[in-house]
Amino acid sequence: MRVLGAIEAGGTKFVCGIGYEDGTVTDRVSFPTTTPEETMGLVLDYFSDKKVEALGIGSFGPIDPIPGSPTYGHITTTPKPHWGGYNLVGAAARHFNVPIGFDTDVNGAALGEYTWGAAQGLDSCLYITVGTGIGAGAVVGGQLIHGLSHPEMGHILVPRHPEDTYSGFCPYHRDCLEGLAAGPAIGSRWGKPAGELDADHPAWAMEAHYLAHALMNYVLILSPQKIVMGGGVMKQSQLFPLIHAKLQELLSGYVQHPALNQEIGSYIVPPELGDNAGLAGALSLAKLALAGA
Ligand code: ADP
Ligand code: ZN
Repeated sequence: MRVLGAIEAGGTKFVCGIGYEDGTVTDRVSFPTTTPEETMGLVLDYFSDKKVEALGIGSFGPIDPIPGSPTYGHITTTPKPHWGGYNLVGAAARHFNVPIGFDTDVNGAALGEYTWGAAQGLDSCLYITVGTGIGAGAVVGGQLIHGLSHPEMGHILVPRHPEDTYSGFCPYHRDCLEGLAAGPAIGSRWGKPAGELDADHPAWAMEAHYLAHALMNYVLILSPQKIVMGGGVMKQSQLFPLIHAKLQELLSGYVQHPALNQEIGSYIVPPELGDNAGLAGALSLAKLALAGA
């Protein structure tokens, strides 16, 4: 089997790994995200003796994933210092003459779960991460969704919980979904890091309110056959049943499908690829690039 390289480019760390076309990951390292030159220096050093036949990069964004665009392969407008306008694919292509797949981290994760994980055998799926930020990627009809650039499903507007007085922290929209429901919002609202709140804390019902409203919109717009929810906040596994019940309440039986009724427990699930979902996602982008080359 051919050796593939995967890069999960995150705002706090870059995870790199080696794997194969069947989704197995055989090596994994991680570097803190500092300046682009320093971070990519470590990444390129790591791959220098690995003889990869394709590279996949799943990146934090916003990015330009549209081949042929003048800024294809760049991180575009991130507020993260030094990274705005950085040509990630260009930096990799200068060192490795192999096909390079490039997409958002969440589009990668969606493709990974579709190829090897929870959505195997289906035509569509949505992957949402609830962590430092909120982002979602989707496969529809076997294809990752692109358009003008890529979807930004973490920044949709959701109705406020009637008891929520927290202002929201999104620098662009203040109280969009990410502003109200990403990990830092939970921490600021309740005065304690999300990971330290008890499983029966009222934070989780409020979190399920926001996430279920978002999922309702995604279900109504995309009709995905599977929804995979990952990221640090979703380690609170009690969120899953709360989200299932709230989504059913919100949909009120309008969309009739077993997945949304008796099978909802297997419709909205954690990543089957577990903590490897991001890296496997990047690996699936490498596999796609190899197939298209
Ligand atoms: P990132 O989004 O930066 O890639 P994560 O997906 O790990 O990283 O998300 C980090 C966020 O998730 C932080 O805001 C943190 O408070 C929250 N988080 C991490 N672990 C938990 C946990 N066990 N329960 C709830 N929230 C958590
Ligand atoms: Zn926003």
